Amino acid sequence: MVKLSELRCLKEVELPEVLSSIRRILSRGGVEETVAVGPDGSTVVANHSVFKALEWLGVSYVPTSSGSPERTYVPIEALGFFDNLETSRYRVFGDTEELLYRNWPTPLVRLRNSSISGRTAWAKLESYNPWSASIKDRVGWYMFKKLSEKLGAPPRLIYEATSTNTGLALAAVCSIHGSKFRAYLPHTAAAGESLLRVFGAEVVISPKPLTVDIISEVRSAASSNGAFNPNQFENDANFEVHLKYTAKELELQMREAGILPKAIFGGLGTSGHMSAIALYFKSRFSGIKVYGAVPKLGESIRGIRRIETGMKWIQYVELDGVVDVSLKEAARSVVEIARRDGILAGLSSGAVYYAYRTMVEAGQLDEGDYVLVFPDAGFKYVDTLVRYLAETAE
Ligand code: PLP
Repeated sequence: MVKLSELRCLKEVELPEVLSSIRRILSRGGVEETVAVGPDGSTVVANHSVFKALEWLGVSYVPTSSGSPERTYVPIEALGFFDNLETSRYRVFGDTEELLYRNWPTPLVRLRNSSISGRTAWAKLESYNPWSASIKDRVGWYMFKKLSEKLGAPPRLIYEATSTNTGLALAAVCSIHGSKFRAYLPHTAAAGESLLRVFGAEVVISPKPLTVDIISEVRSAASSNGAFNPNQFENDANFEVHLKYTAKELELQMREAGILPKAIFGGLGTSGHMSAIALYFKSRFSGIKVYGAVPKLGESIRGIRRIETGMKWIQYVELDGVVDVSLKEAARSVVEIARRDGILAGLSSGAVYYAYRTMVEAGQLDEGDYVLVFPDAGFKYVDTLVRYLAETAE
């Protein structure tokens, strides 16, 4: 076996091909063919998609053979599959970038009082990420890291369309590396402007309602001003980071908790995290279902949107269902969780909990364990929550 970092793959591989190799490796629990390398011992000459799959899965070692691929079987553990999840045991960090990736996993917590009739809800709290206090730190960090690796140095100027969280994450990583950042917000997310400015970002508010509506405008502004546009909606680093870290973490946490969930619930925005989680868990375990929460037609819940608005990765995985949620239902759920379990979840997390609860009440979920991915916390949405309390006179 050769260290993955010592191998070079010069050929581009189409996304569906990489995903089918990932599926095969995860479902067999190991790799069944070697990656063929050339006479230099480090250039991949065949089985490029297996190499890419192993790279995306974040293994340390790759079984290789010279000239042509050979049949083999190496279990993923022997490839150093979980090695990249090393955390700082006593939580001492060398800088605020380490504070992000060496502080994972984000917590998985049983919602003791919000679980309904023998269907135990476990929340993965992505608000424990340090920069944007959201799941988007992972994406901002990884897109920036990949771009820096490609350029050989950190990018000097970045533009990105965001509904705030990705913007905060990119603003933070740009601060850390001395880069400049401009965020484009749809008017429905204008409340994020002040926080972004605290992080030193320049902010442009668009009259459009959805972040996806401003992608092309941002792309052309970036190309005319010499800025890089990572574009979370199409950048595969968004998907890869959740496969390499978020999904793997969750597997180790499930082992620690001694559970195998019947289903995983999550919100859909770019679809990055739930597509990666669906691909991972459906390949690795049989029978785990995956459900998405989206806003009801005509409603706006920051961070999530309807599937028909177009999402890159969701087309490659099989969702078992999608639940429509109104802003009011999401807000009500946030209040319920706060009053039962004493934790302030964000509005998209409220939507995720509502999806779980609705399905329990409709008799669609068997007794067992359920994982709910909570993308952020409620502190950014106080205005909406206060309005909800006033309207319902609670
Ligand atoms: N919830 C919140 C609060 C978000 O900020 C986002 C993404 O921006 C999501 C959910 C959706 O996550 P994803 O883009 O991975 O689908």
